[in-house]
Amino acid sequence: MTTYRPNMTGLTSVEAKRLQAQYGKNELAQQKKESLLKKVFHIICEPMFLLLIVAAIIYFLLGEPRDGAIMLIFVVGIISIDVIQEWKTDKTLNALKDLSAPHCTVIRDGKEQQIASVDLVPGDLMMIHEGVKIPADGLVLRCADLCVDESSLTGEAEGVWKTPTESTEPTKDHWRKDYCYAGTLVTQGNAVVQVDTIGVQTEYGKIGLGVIAAPNEDTPLQKQTGKLVKTCAIIAGVLFALVAVFTWFNIPDHTIMDRLIESILSGVTLAMAMIPEEFPVILTVFLSMGAWRLAKKNSLVRKLPSVETLGAVSVLCVDKTGTITMNQMTVQDVWTTSGATEQELVETMGLGCETDAYDPMEKAMLRYCEDYGITKESLFSNEFVSEYAFTNELKMMGHVWRKKGHLIIAAKGSPERILSICKLGEEERRTIESQIKTLSSQGLRVIAVATAKPENESAIPAVITDCRLTLLGLVGLADPPRESVKEDIAVCNRAGIRVVMITGDNGITASAIANKIGIPGSENIITGEELEAMGDGELQEAVKTVSIFSRVIPEHKMRIVRAFKENGEIVAMTGDGVNDAPALKYADIGIAMGKRGSEVSREASDLILMDDNFTTIVETVRDGRRIYDNIRKAVGYVFTIHIPIAAASLLAPLLGIEPTALMLLPLHVVLLEVLIDPTCSIVLERQPAEEDVMDRAPRDPKEKLLTGRLLGKSVLQGIFVFAASFGAYFATLAGNSANAPEARAMGLAIIMLANLFLVQVNSSNHDFAYHSAKQLVKDRVVWAVNLGTLALLAIILYTPISTFLKLAPLSGIQALTALGLAAASVLWYELVKLIRRLQGMKRKGIK
Ligand code: ADP
Ligand code: MG
Repeated sequence: MTTYRPNMTGLTSVEAKRLQAQYGKNELAQQKKESLLKKVFHIICEPMFLLLIVAAIIYFLLGEPRDGAIMLIFVVGIISIDVIQEWKTDKTLNALKDLSAPHCTVIRDGKEQQIASVDLVPGDLMMIHEGVKIPADGLVLRCADLCVDESSLTGEAEGVWKTPTESTEPTKDHWRKDYCYAGTLVTQGNAVVQVDTIGVQTEYGKIGLGVIAAPNEDTPLQKQTGKLVKTCAIIAGVLFALVAVFTWFNIPDHTIMDRLIESILSGVTLAMAMIPEEFPVILTVFLSMGAWRLAKKNSLVRKLPSVETLGAVSVLCVDKTGTITMNQMTVQDVWTTSGATEQELVETMGLGCETDAYDPMEKAMLRYCEDYGITKESLFSNEFVSEYAFTNELKMMGHVWRKKGHLIIAAKGSPERILSICKLGEEERRTIESQIKTLSSQGLRVIAVATAKPENESAIPAVITDCRLTLLGLVGLADPPRESVKEDIAVCNRAGIRVVMITGDNGITASAIANKIGIPGSENIITGEELEAMGDGELQEAVKTVSIFSRVIPEHKMRIVRAFKENGEIVAMTGDGVNDAPALKYADIGIAMGKRGSEVSREASDLILMDDNFTTIVETVRDGRRIYDNIRKAVGYVFTIHIPIAAASLLAPLLGIEPTALMLLPLHVVLLEVLIDPTCSIVLERQPAEEDVMDRAPRDPKEKLLTGRLLGKSVLQGIFVFAASFGAYFATLAGNSANAPEARAMGLAIIMLANLFLVQVNSSNHDFAYHSAKQLVKDRVVWAVNLGTLALLAIILYTPISTFLKLAPLSGIQALTALGLAAASVLWYELVKLIRRLQGMKRKGIK
């Protein structure tokens, strides 16, 4: 147990900068950046743009270069919006990546500091400790009990004990004992390592492992909507043909060339109106913005699909210590056996702690010693002889000291284990066990303290389990639950999310705390031992009712997650240790701790909790639900708003209306697209959570994004808007092509105004529109978009631009009529909500 503070100074930041210029970054593969040109190219290759460009070309062919030019301006406009959009999401995602990228501690400018591991340079002094994945190759300058798992490089499962560089002769072994390799894992101890090589120069880099970075796979939702877009495109293709044929027969008096061009043009209009190209955009924007908003609230999403999954979480498995509790322990009670004095107990407890205690429990014990009048200095001025290290399996530890010439073993740990190596009479054992129960049922962590006095060094047993100890007494430590935990558990209970507590503590303690914070079924406990005796099927059955697992070791977590998953639950699981990594990977949402977690657990996780706080987990799930809700709202909205556009482009030619008098020309479809995009990606993305998000059960993970119900509602709403807009257009046209600009203006105005109402109405399925409008009153961005829509409408109707767009200004009466029709075509849905509410109330009344 050598402890030391390195007094080495390391590089200066100036040197580091110079070295980085020379050696580059410490990364295996350089991030490939998509050039702007490539991005634009990708966007242009989308079917929507191909259609736009076809339309523009046709205009030029028709000898209407002005129309063609306007189209092209729109095309450029939409491409710019898309490029900016993409650039923004890229930036967001990269910022998130940087935040969750591995960091390491180095000594620079004579100070310990955290830097991103990619910024390591040869010559840096890095400090590594248990749980760290070594980020570069380097020489071990100093170390204490440093054990490294090098299996990722050598395939050798056994840990390798390292030695400082000066203490070994250079050997011929390829894998050196005084050298640390990138990509390997510190399993014990700590060290100062001087970085030697970085990036692809490291042994790890040379093998080429890790270069094959996981490709950015589409999320389940992205796959679903991909299919949806394809289906729509196929339907659009069929209707394209239909409309083209109809148009052909509508104008028998035109020249063949004209007939051909007009036919294609009306077909293209319809196809443009039908393809819901917004879907993929919605997903990337909603998910990445969602992740960004979560990052601001202390939870870092490492994998984008997790944002989707979060809303479906049905079981939350959390570590007790530090997540549910504050991990701020205090010694609350001590109890001595009849043969021992309190002084003896307290002193032995102190001697059983690490000299530079890191564990909050040991810190609490040492604080208690100080209060008792036993200072650290007096404790640790004795001569340290050897130690029995703590392991998760043993759940106890001990130190051997030489005090005033006499050897003394100071051991402490879980009472079950310590008692098993103590000499005790039957009677005595019973008294102690009842005392343990008393302390535990107050929610205290109980630690037993025991001692032995070996004659000489050869009488010191090699392992702690061979010791025959004398029990001195028990210590009860309190670790209060975090303040808001009770409230959060109540929220989870209402939201149909089961909170499962996992702890190394004993069952009675765990149960007492679970009871205190309101976890249902706190009397049912499974201990690690019971778990081990159970078969997988048995465990699967047991987890249906049991929410507390006590005396578990990290390896058990994997089985717990599996049991829940087999039952069809969506499981989120927290973990901090190296051994938690497999369970974190296996859980649907693996949650690592930002503060006390190991690098390995972070790497295995989907989400990093920056403040280690249970409240943040619950908030994150809530946000996950909100984001999913909003995605659905946006998808529903896109369907609704496309219906009047597509139906108008379809119906007008079928009704035999002349091509020049159609309600929507390609120009107008594009104009509407310009409006629809920001409505989705800005307004709907910002929708606050509905009041009942955490009052309903988690969504069924198998349920499709677009359910029959949502589709039905959207189609119905779309038909209403279509009826209003097309009806107004048709009535104004009155069979005379000369009225077309005015009629068109009516139709377009109604769609645009209806768009504003739609967002409000659909922001909740039961809260009334005024309610959501109230919530958004303070949101400036939403205001900007709404006012922008009105301004756009004013510009296209009342400025000279209107003639370019083949529109005509509307009179006051007409404008009011448009507004009224738009409102009526959407707000009827408020009545549906009202009826549902009344029904709901009646149902409750009957009960
Ligand atoms: P948790 O999962 O609640 O964090 P731990 O795995 O840290 O629990 O600890 C499990 C048990 O091991 C404790 O209840 C205690 O009995 C014992 N223990 C933990 N840390 C120490 C220590 N430093 N010294 C002695 N015993 C310990
Ligand atoms: Mg612990």
